[in-house]
Amino acid sequence: MSEPPNTPTYRKNATAWRAYNRRRYELERAAAGDDPIPFVCECTSGACFAAMELTPRQFRAAHRGATWTAVLPEHVLLDDGSRVVVRHETHWVAKLVSIA
Ligand SMILES: [Zn+2]
Repeated sequence: MSEPPNTPTYRKNATAWRAYNRRRYELERAAAGDDPIPFVCECTSGACFAAMELTPRQFRAAHRGATWTAVLPEHVLLDDGSRVVVRHETHWVAKLVSIA
């Protein structure tokens, strides 16, 4: 289980990383089948560029909402206005108010 990222100041651009993961999903989903694809954690921590594996089905479910992000467990920075939607063993889904 991963620890919450320690980020005193800098926040990464979660919207850009979400878009990056989306492109990766589009490229790899056909070949992946039901196998996990490596993505980058979409949390807002400027110190986190950790790999996160989701199957294509998990990726789609994690982005069902327009402001939903897929993050590693515990990677939710509440002071960014993030709210946990679902907690899975491998990843959490967080609603990120700042990209609404
Ligand atoms: Zn993270």
